[in-house]
Amino acid sequence: MLQLVNVGHKSLADYATIAARGLMDEIRRLAEPLRGVRVLELSATAFGGGVAEIQYTLVPLMQDAGLEVEWRIIHGAEEFFSVTKAIHNALQGSPRGLSEEERATFMRYQALNAAEIDVSAYDIVVVHDPQPVGVIAHAEKGSAKWVWRGHIDFSTPNPDVLEFLLPFLGHYDAAVFHLPEYVPRVAGLPPCYVWPPAIDPLAPKNMALSAEDAAYIVDQFGIDVRRPLLTQVSRFDPWKDPLGVIDAYRLVKRERPDVQLALVGSMAHDDPEGMEYWDQTVAYADNDPDIFILSNLNNVGSVEVNAFQVHSAAVIQKSIREGFGLTVAEALWKARPTVGGRVGGIVTQIEDGAGWLVESSEECAAACLEILADPAAARARALVGKEVVRRRFLTPRLLRDWLALFNRLLDTGVEGAELEAVAAVS
Ligand code: UDP
Repeated sequence: MLQLVNVGHKSLADYATIAARGLMDEIRRLAEPLRGVRVLELSATAFGGGVAEIQYTLVPLMQDAGLEVEWRIIHGAEEFFSVTKAIHNALQGSPRGLSEEERATFMRYQALNAAEIDVSAYDIVVVHDPQPVGVIAHAEKGSAKWVWRGHIDFSTPNPDVLEFLLPFLGHYDAAVFHLPEYVPRVAGLPPCYVWPPAIDPLAPKNMALSAEDAAYIVDQFGIDVRRPLLTQVSRFDPWKDPLGVIDAYRLVKRERPDVQLALVGSMAHDDPEGMEYWDQTVAYADNDPDIFILSNLNNVGSVEVNAFQVHSAAVIQKSIREGFGLTVAEALWKARPTVGGRVGGIVTQIEDGAGWLVESSEECAAACLEILADPAAARARALVGKEVVRRRFLTPRLLRDWLALFNRLLDTGVEGAELEAVAAVS
């Protein structure tokens, strides 16, 4: 059996007044026909990165809505995860393709994992990201409906690697992407749906933390709480561009010598490149005493990430590719001035004056300087962002979208008001 993740219990009722109005009624209506429906959620890791973050809230809320949900983690060893990281990089635009041997390794693990699943025990199987995408090709499909959920930026995929994965997608009953432009314009896809992910406003990472508590926490990591802090929270990955963030910080420092920078990044189990890129980032920081490079290995967990976000004068997410960027929603929800790379899902979050969109370290530095020069104006902008997050990027909305799709797949006759399939190219 594949490892089952223990997600604990969450109660939908707790979210009733914090989320956008009217959502709870729709969730109740959509949950009614799905009582007892058995769902398997399959992903590559229970720790590190956005997928795990989302699942820890979504799965218990689905359970509270009456569904029987299991979230299981596929087996994988280093040889497999270095292939899946290459696939991840290729789908985000890296020119490096896959060797025959890498393809064979990928296939071997799909078969191995499929053998561990009893599909007859489920009504719906949701598969996250490319790592387990091919399990479907080896599993007894049974009567279950299969959905594939892509979490990465597919706007400029490496065509060879996309071609390798596409036949798997053809087996599914539906696919879900974050943005319309991520849906591949190719034949042979199942019906495709689009909705962004979301953050949990009541999780320790996002719940209200006072300025005093945030300062108390970041002080323990050596930050001088009387001087301004810039923070980027993200895995150590070239697409997150931590080196570009350091460049931006250095430009800011010329004009604001008191500025400090924190780069906070967890080490995901399925990300073998993380350690190497961490080392590169540390080398690039060149012992600057005002740059703090921290991770879960230094005990930076959810509450600490929360504190860094709350305490920062500006939160940065200077990605070069970004499927969505939960960290942007997290920062905006805390009404922090947020500077994001003009890519992928970040653009949909920082729109209409909710933050700053930048395309270079120079632009990033200019935005940070503007924020540091006028914190009150920056906060007014961040408050716009907080309401964008409340309307569009909190977990109850995500739950509603999933329930609407499940109703459609199981043909219950109950329809979600906003569920639209994107016309697949045929
Ligand atoms: N995160 C964390 N600790 C860290 C770095 C990241 O808890 O040291 C969390 C972060 O707060 C966010 C998630 O990991 O919730 C990253 O999701 P995102 O969509 O920003 O990027 P991904 O890692 O999925 O590419």
